Parts: sequence; C-alpha cells; structure tokens
Amino acid sequence: MGKGYMGKILMVDLTMGTLQEEAIPDDVYEKYLSGIGLAAYLLYNRIPADADPLGPDNILGFMSGLLTGTGSFFSGRWMVVGKSPLTGGWGDANCGGNFSPAIKRCGYDGIFFRGISEKPVYLHMRKGNVRIRDASHIWGRDTVEAEEFLTREHGQRSRIALIGPAGEKLSLISGISNDGGRMAARSGLGAVMGSKKLKAVVLDGAKRIPVHNRERIKKLSRKCNKWVQFQPPFLTGRLMPYLGALLRMLPIDIVMDGMLWKIIIRKWGTGGLNQAAIQWGVLSVKNWKGSHVDFDIKKSSNTNPDFIKDLETIKYHCYACPLGCGGICSMDGAYTETHKPELETTVAFGGLLLNEDVEAIFYINELLNRAGMDSLSAAGTVAFAMECYEKGLLTKGDTEGLELTWGNAKAVIELVRKMIGREGIGDLLADGSRKAAECIGGNSMEFAIQAGGQEPSMWDGRWDSGFALHYSVEPTPGRHSTGSDLWYGMFRLWKRVKGVPKFGLLRFKSSKYKTGEQRAAIGAASSKFLNVINGAGLCFFGSFLGADRMPTFDWINAATGWNRTPEEYMEIGERIQTLRQAFNIKHGIEPKDFKISDRAVGRPPLSAGANKGRTVDIDAMMEGYWAQFGWDAKTGKPGEECMKRLGIRAR
Ligand code: SF4
Repeated sequence: MGKGYMGKILMVDLTMGTLQEEAIPDDVYEKYLSGIGLAAYLLYNRIPADADPLGPDNILGFMSGLLTGTGSFFSGRWMVVGKSPLTGGWGDANCGGNFSPAIKRCGYDGIFFRGISEKPVYLHMRKGNVRIRDASHIWGRDTVEAEEFLTREHGQRSRIALIGPAGEKLSLISGISNDGGRMAARSGLGAVMGSKKLKAVVLDGAKRIPVHNRERIKKLSRKCNKWVQFQPPFLTGRLMPYLGALLRMLPIDIVMDGMLWKIIIRKWGTGGLNQAAIQWGVLSVKNWKGSHVDFDIKKSSNTNPDFIKDLETIKYHCYACPLGCGGICSMDGAYTETHKPELETTVAFGGLLLNEDVEAIFYINELLNRAGMDSLSAAGTVAFAMECYEKGLLTKGDTEGLELTWGNAKAVIELVRKMIGREGIGDLLADGSRKAAECIGGNSMEFAIQAGGQEPSMWDGRWDSGFALHYSVEPTPGRHSTGSDLWYGMFRLWKRVKGVPKFGLLRFKSSKYKTGEQRAAIGAASSKFLNVINGAGLCFFGSFLGADRMPTFDWINAATGWNRTPEEYMEIGERIQTLRQAFNIKHGIEPKDFKISDRAVGRPPLSAGANKGRTVDIDAMMEGYWAQFGWDAKTGKPGEECMKRLGIRAR
C-alpha cells in the first residue's frame, strides 16, 4: 500500500453474487491519482465498447479521492462513474457529504459493481464484513425515507449512497443521493444503479488512512484556513442584484478574485448570486431565449439571498470542509425541512421558466432530491416542454390538462411529479429533452437545449464563451464545473504553474469571445487542473480560493511523499482528460456531436439583455481546445502519438 491511498478496490458482481478485492499497483496512482483518474483507467480497460449502459457489462463505481481522509481540507467529495446512459459515453458525477471518507475507511479507494441482480439488493460493509442484502423492503421508497430506514437498521455511523424512484424507474436524468438528498446528479448514473437493482451502498468502516507527512498536511491546511476565515461583514443580500446590474453595464470585466466568491458562498451558499447572476447576464432565462429584461429584480425578489438565509435553520459542512456552504431550510408546507436549493437549481426552476414562486422552487427541489432526479436536467426538460406548448407542439390534450405556460408554478410541480412517476407526458420527459424532442419531432430539437443529450447548467456561454466551450468539449458534456474564463480567473494557476496564461485585474469583455491560442490554452489548463482536483477528491469551490491559497499540489506531495512539481500534476490532469476522451471514442462517440445547441451559443443572437447580439464561434474554439491536447483538431480524437506520450494503450 502506498501513502494517501488504500491501494485496493472492491469489485462486486451482482449477477454472480461475488465479491473480489483487487490490489492496484502504485504506478497506476502515480499516473492517474485516485478518484476520477483511477476510475477512468479501470473503466476504459474493462467496459466493452458495445456495452449497454443499462446492461450487465456496464460497471458502476463509487470513488473517494486521493486526499480524502488525509487531513487536507475540502477533501470530502465522492464521485460516481460509469458509462452514461444519457450521453452514451463516459459518465461521472460528483457530490459532497460524508460518503467519501467512508469508502476509504472500509479499506478501498473505489467500490465497483458489474452484472445485474435478480432482485433489489444493497451492499452493506461493516468492519471487514461485506454482504449483499435484500432491499425489497426499501425498493420504491424515496431517498430520504430509505436512508433513514437503513440508518435505523445499521446505526448512525453508517454512510449511505442510494437511489430513489427515478433511478429505479431508469430515468436517464436520475442521480445518486447521500446525506438526506444531496445528489451526485449528472450523467444519468442513477439509472445505471437502478438497472443493476442496486438500491444502496451502506458503509461503516474504521480503517486508518496512511499518510506520508501528516504534520505537513496540518500546517498546509491551517494556512489555507486563514483565507477561508477572512470574512468582511459589509455585503448584504439587498445589494447583490444591483451589484450584478452594475457589472452588466461596465464595459470591462473585473477578473473576479475567488475570495469574493468564497465570501459570498460562506455567507449565503451559492444562492448568494441568485439575483445578481441574472442581472449580470451570467445565467440563462426563459429556455435560453430571454434575459434580465424578462426576469427583472422585482420578479426574482423572492429569491434574494437574505430572504433564503432567514429560512435557514441549520448550516452544514461537508467532511473536512472549513467553509460550509450548505444549509437546511424550514418552511411551511408538505416538506417542513429541505436542503437550501443551490443557485443553479433556483434559477433553473426560477428564471429559466419565468417562475416567481420561491415556495414552489423549494418544494420541487425537495421532490427531486427525494426522487433522485437531476434538478438541472429536469428543469431544462420542463423549459423545453413549455416552449413546445407555446409553439403548439404539445397541447392540453398531450399534457392531460396541464397549462404549461411560462411561470405557471402549479403546472411545473405537477409536471415534475409526472416525470418522477413516469406518468403520461412525464414518461416522455423523464429521459431528458433530447429524447423527448426525438419523439415530438417538428423543429422541437432546436429548443431542446443540450450537449450530447445532457441539459447544460444555467451558466450562459454567450456571457462567458468558456462555458460554451466546456459544455461542448468535455467527455461529460453540459457541465459548468469543468471550466470557463470566470473560473480560470479564480484558479490563479499562473501563481503556481509555469507556462499557463495569466490574467490581470481587468479584461475587456470582448476578450471572452475571442478564439485563438490564448483562449484554447485557458480551456485546456482548466480541464487539466480540474482533473487533478477530482482525482484528489477536492471541492470545486475550494479551488476558487486560488492555486496559491488552496495548496492542492503540496497536499498531494505531503500525503504521498511523491515530491512532484505543479507542471507534473498538470500532465496527470492531461492524461486523465485524454483517457476519458479515449473512453468516448472507444464507445463510438463522435466528439463534435457533443457541441451544445445553437441557441446557447447565440445562433440566432439574443435581441436584448447583457448578451444581446453575441454569437460564439464554437467550432473554432472546439478545434483550438482539441489541438492544445495534441488531439486531431478536426475530429477531437486523441491520436496514436499523443496516447503513446501519455502512456495510454489504444483499445
Ligand atoms: S464548500 Fe460547500 S460543497 Fe464544498 S466541501 Fe465545503 S460545504 Fe461541501
């Protein structure tokens, strides 16, 4: 066993009912880290090219990170991986909470499942005892009820990841939950778990996690914590939308220091930007065809961060996080307690649908968390259905009487219920907007806003073309947490890594829409860095502090004893990205088919708002990005030379 990692995985075959422990050689960790990197290495080699994502040959993995449990702050993210039934390619999703250290305390860096069980089961591990148990009694229960049931049965120390009814019903936009409804939502991997008839993974271990230099890690964490604890008192929620409006009107962009972001999310969570981001032009409105003009400060006033904060009764942190952006809110209604909705969920069920009813947003958030359905894909699909209704492609007859008019919160709640239960029109929409558009026909695919089948997050690529780029080029398309100019400014990579582009304090807004080498280099550096973050199991929000303030590279060196340079870690990030892309090529994906829908890049351009008149040259940007990795610039396929340089065998 090396240091920082456990050196083993567990492979569970649900068809055979067998368990097999496997040692992983040290050099695999040295080349791929753990987390997303180790998973990519294993699944690239083991999932056959023709595997049905919902069939027995697909492998579903639950991964911890290389730094999880070492004493490094922000290191509690866990990842679920597999072949995505939504995109047909590499799938991963990421979540906080307390599940990640539990994987390592059971003695593994990852737990994998292949095959299909005959009846519903769950995996239970406790102090070296591993059993596949009958889950018939909890099949059909929502994520919160089933987790409470399993906790009562196996004790408070148990850490549980599980699916709800959406995953059981094989919704292609379903995810996997832990900690009472926190979701690893993207890529449709809840359906993979459902297809395997695996309801839950219940872990309770006590193994010690080996670390090379624990004192050094503590010292680095203490230093990082000083940045986290700096918190000036002057920001108020009422100011935020006006700050957004001011930023929209300025001719230049202030390169955002992640400290400001940290201050906002420490105070309010991501919802601190609920109104500001719409006013600024950052987040999309009315199925990507509107702007702040359609959803002004008054219309979004119920989502003001101070209003949401007043509802917060418990503030919580993920494992090993000094920041704590999460919260439980209390409200009257069917669910008295619910997780504070994230910024993206609030805007997805707010501005994207022109819905002003914040109680409905809270209620839908809880419904989806309990069902185990991805809120971003669900909202994107509802927005698509509303536009179909507006254009007469769906009628009241099709919707069983629901009036899917913009802003009709009651109809949205009913539609979401139908999607979760796969009832009537809900069955058509439960697999996302692309699948629905294929059935509805006409010109509906034009307003199914998606990349490779996945609805993008709310971040608008017409405001920051980096979002449009990463939605389109990542092996898991449509994700906002994979890169943008905004994030790059906060990463401050140039403070630690030689040869990457450097930002000053101010930038002309037009620079965000330029193509060319600088643009491509920013995209490539972001992807490489975030693969290191996801290999280490670190939180994306922590990385906003900047590479000089959150000591990612130093933590890994202290945990493992490797003594590598930041540039060497960036090369590992490059290897992981290339391997994930190679996974997609092996599984028949044409990378250019992941390009995001035309509307989201300004074809045609908007006629009002911050992003009025803008069109992103997405084809040139994609080619530039692929060339940065040494992949074929026209096709996005990694060539032989590049694979050889990174030590990857073509399959
Ligand atoms: S910043 Fe938020 S999401 Fe990230 S680890 Fe901390 S509590 Fe979890």
